[in-house]
Amino acid sequence: MEFEEKKKRMINGLKGQGISKKVLDAITKVDRHRFVPEQLEGDAYYDTPLPIGYNQTISAPHMVAMMCDMLDLEEGHRVLEIGAGSGYNAAVMAELIGENGHIYTIERIKPLVDFAKNNLEKAGYSNVTVVHGDGSEGYPSAAPYDRITVTSAAPEIPEIFLEQLKPEGILLIPVGIPYQELYLVRKDLDGNIHKEPKGGVMFVPLVGKYGFRKDDGY
Ligand code: SAM
Repeated sequence: MEFEEKKKRMINGLKGQGISKKVLDAITKVDRHRFVPEQLEGDAYYDTPLPIGYNQTISAPHMVAMMCDMLDLEEGHRVLEIGAGSGYNAAVMAELIGENGHIYTIERIKPLVDFAKNNLEKAGYSNVTVVHGDGSEGYPSAAPYDRITVTSAAPEIPEIFLEQLKPEGILLIPVGIPYQELYLVRKDLDGNIHKEPKGGVMFVPLVGKYGFRKDDGY
């Protein structure tokens, strides 16, 4: 079966899961087979995570879609993603924020930085910057952000992310190991923080200064 046919089936599966039309349109525009290792291209349109090397994964399409909906991404937003991985989630978000917005996506594993950069360049995204570094510290150079999304699980919500969020901004972050809860965190106009649990998820750990540390066994 051709990629387009497989993609159609995957999108049909997502339609039944309450994903918004605008996010489904964004997912439709991104070729997931361009964001997985060559030997896994044929599996790219199964709605599952897939290995991308270095013990890391590209997230399942339904998780990418649900997180994009929760983030309520709009044209022109400045977004920070922690955990570029393959660059796929950044590509889907880039479709949603358009030419006037910008995605900064930070990755700690250098070969994955190169993988994500290469995938995004080949797919033609000029509104995404891939950064090599410890994303547990956020990315102060381009702060503040309308949205921050974390695609790995933190031991707790790092204060530094809240500092880099604009008033009326949203932070989405999985917290905990082994059981993880996805938190939607809103900063209001007065700078007050409101945390809402959104259910159980399964992500690789966020490691680094404000993540899990070597002495925790990571
Ligand atoms: N968003 C990715 C995609 O679309 O392919 C999937 C991300 S994968 C589930 C989680 C990523 O977070 C891994 O690539 C991992 O190396 C990265 N990561 C973990 N801790 C990090 C840190 N402190 N800074 C930056 N990246 C980190």
